[in-house]
Amino acid sequence: MTEFKGVFIVADGLGGRPTDTPEGKTCLEAARTPHLDELARRGALGLLDPIAPGVRPGSDTAHLSLFGYDPFEEYPGRGVFEAVGVGLEVHEGDVCFRTNFATVDEDFVVKDRRAGRIHEGQEELERALQGLQPRSAPDVEVLFKASTEHRGALVLRGPDLSPSVSEADPHATGQRVREVVPLEDTPQARRTAQILNEIIRRSYEILKDLPLNRDRAAKGLPPANLLLPRGPSTVPRFETLPRRYGIKGAVIAAGALYIGIGRLLGLEFHRAEGATGGLDTDIRSKIALALEELQTKDFVFVHIKGTDTAGHDRNARAKIEFLERIDEALGALVEGLDWERTHLAFTGDHATPIAYGDHVSDPVPVLFVGPNVLPDATEAFHERAALRGGLHRFAGRVVPMLAGYNNWLRKFGT
Ligand code: ZN
Ligand code: ZN
Repeated sequence: MTEFKGVFIVADGLGGRPTDTPEGKTCLEAARTPHLDELARRGALGLLDPIAPGVRPGSDTAHLSLFGYDPFEEYPGRGVFEAVGVGLEVHEGDVCFRTNFATVDEDFVVKDRRAGRIHEGQEELERALQGLQPRSAPDVEVLFKASTEHRGALVLRGPDLSPSVSEADPHATGQRVREVVPLEDTPQARRTAQILNEIIRRSYEILKDLPLNRDRAAKGLPPANLLLPRGPSTVPRFETLPRRYGIKGAVIAAGALYIGIGRLLGLEFHRAEGATGGLDTDIRSKIALALEELQTKDFVFVHIKGTDTAGHDRNARAKIEFLERIDEALGALVEGLDWERTHLAFTGDHATPIAYGDHVSDPVPVLFVGPNVLPDATEAFHERAALRGGLHRFAGRVVPMLAGYNNWLRKFGT
């Protein structure tokens, strides 16, 4: 193991705006966060542009950037992260998609893109969709796995496939599911579009009469009656973190996307008990597992999603409460980390302000603390404090900076 260890915690959608609350405070300013404030006093703050100033990040591209990969060069599309994250094996040449269970009417008009964020029955839905073999392409294998809530992943495996196809998801309710069309004039893209259209149609035939969906209809819940693939991607070949830094690392996350990013970057995945990827997640359990993993690993990446979910829900109260729960859980880290030989980086992958309800390009606060970090004068952890932080403002590359403090970097030049 290396001399120093690294802990990298991402609270998804962490950042906010002064419009978050009527008092003109961001959610992070309004939240009571004594542990983060103590870490801010011991360490240094900065403002992080997740990708670059003026680039509105997705969570996937932002994470790649934070890990030190250039998303403009290396972003393969989202689907593969989701597929690897749900535990599907992927091969070079596969085309991967993330999927939603959605609710549509008989004319394929979308009533709910997330089937009411369905909480049960994923196994039944997954089982039902195992017969999705496209009749128009018998040489193509279709793999499907459900994940948390409405999420899942789809992999097409076979000759002559292409990720250059349009999305079926209209990204709005009250609109019809779109016909998938090829985005380039190749037989591969035409064939892939045709396969997808068949899969979407067949998913409705298979799902609409499932007992689960009859039950949901009886309870007045939106049925999960359509599989909506999106985010087509290829399978990338990243230089993994273990290779880049000569380390062993783990990823602790619940959302498939984040598990997938971690695994594709060479981190070992560990499931924390009670981690759901939602607002009801057990953050303490994740932090406890991180401490445990650090016994045998050099690096642990912990991802916490609830902050982003509350932001998308435009629920300031929920975001503030969730931030306070993160802070409580961090108490165990403040107590339990070997602070003489560990560096911690804590940040978000972007801001998800309450009034906007989606990701924005604003920079987010970032905190570094550990024996090699020169402390600055900040005494609290939030956006306004970060404006005065000693690390000033920088873009992406949080993990390479952490690696720098940990003396893991190879010299550039001689
Ligand atoms: Zn995010
Ligand atoms: Zn988000």
